Amino acid sequence: MPVHSDIRSDHRSSAVPAGGAGVRADGDLALRQRLSEVLLRIAAAAERVGRSPHAVTLVAVSKGFDAEAIRAGRRVGQADFGESRAQELRRKSEEIGPGVRWHFVGRLQRNKVRDVVGLASLIHSVDRFELAEAIAERMAPRGGVQRVLVQVNVGDDPAKGGCPVDETIQLVARVRGLEGIACEGLMTIPPLGVDPRPLFRRLRELRDDLRGRFPEVQHLSMGMSGDFETAVEEGATIVRVGEAIFGQRPQRADARD
Ligand SMILES: *Cc1c(COP(=O)(O)O)cnc(C)c1O
Repeated sequence: MPVHSDIRSDHRSSAVPAGGAGVRADGDLALRQRLSEVLLRIAAAAERVGRSPHAVTLVAVSKGFDAEAIRAGRRVGQADFGESRAQELRRKSEEIGPGVRWHFVGRLQRNKVRDVVGLASLIHSVDRFELAEAIAERMAPRGGVQRVLVQVNVGDDPAKGGCPVDETIQLVARVRGLEGIACEGLMTIPPLGVDPRPLFRRLRELRDDLRGRFPEVQHLSMGMSGDFETAVEEGATIVRVGEAIFGQRPQRADARD
């Protein structure tokens, strides 16, 4: 266990309100405690390897939780939220309005690109050129630039999306040639049941290699509830954490679209 286990909360998501200000205050308190515990664990992991905690952005992955969970997260100071389904992102952003920095972390199909481009401040999951092209075509006429990460399948997991390791440099180089899109780093999701550390390390080496040629390739989006401290130790600049912040996810909400 990490340090700071003294501030753990056992409220989990059982404090979901049945209405009433007192219930909501309890919910906020539990959320605040879980969020601050995650932030402390990130800071401790960073310090263990001599990194600044400020070099790591926490994305609260709110997929499967309702808009009220996101509002509560904002009330306790969280700014970045992640969603993995295009329509869920669109719906929640309309419900909540401005003031949230959205991250899209799920599998993205070309026909869903319009729901995400311009709305997500960062799309973490570009894994093929055709998808980058669709994003660029959508963004370029607006004169903006959609920031993206290239998702890499460092674990060679057939169940996971992601560009094969040995095609990543070529994909990033081709994305660079497009107008309206910028690749600012790499993302990965390690397979279940394997030690993620060597895979995080592999992604970092790949990023270092790329950054030597393309200086804008900076970010490493890696680490989830079960392994974000390992990811921070291995150089993550963005961690994507859901259940450790919001409690147990109420429904199955994997990246399906
Ligand atoms: C759901 C999800 C997460 C967060 O997972 P938790 O186990 O809830 O922390 C992170 N990244 C991606 C791509 C996800 O789909």
